Amino acid sequence: MAAPRTLPRLDADNRFFWTGGAEGQLRLMRCQDCKTFIHPPRPVCRKCLSEHVLPEAVAGTGVIDTYTVNYQKWHPALEVPFVIARVAIDGAPGVYLTTNIVGCAVDQVDVGDRVRVKFEQQGDVYLPLFEKIG
Ligand SMILES: [Zn+2]
Repeated sequence: MAAPRTLPRLDADNRFFWTGGAEGQLRLMRCQDCKTFIHPPRPVCRKCLSEHVLPEAVAGTGVIDTYTVNYQKWHPALEVPFVIARVAIDGAPGVYLTTNIVGCAVDQVDVGDRVRVKFEQQGDVYLPLFEKIG
């Protein structure tokens, strides 16, 4: 199941995001002054330029905003087809994660479906994938 993936390079700005799954938490950077969520994470708020930004855990649920089904076998070990989706994250207005929907057949996925994060660990990295709720 764990097909090879190109893993992100962890750095001081993004480590909290890619390792939050170790504690079962989806964490997003948030400006502590204007409360805007900042994703991808940056050390400065893009809205008010504050440097007072910290990771915060969110619920880990969301809604499929759009998706596509990949049938191309990019790697011999890759299982196809699979869904690439953009998920609007609950409680974090304006934050969308591009991810995979797992745990169901590709024809069971639709725009508007409610989903919940399901982390896939690969080394130090916990990839935030999503599965349908209910
Ligand atoms: Zn701000």
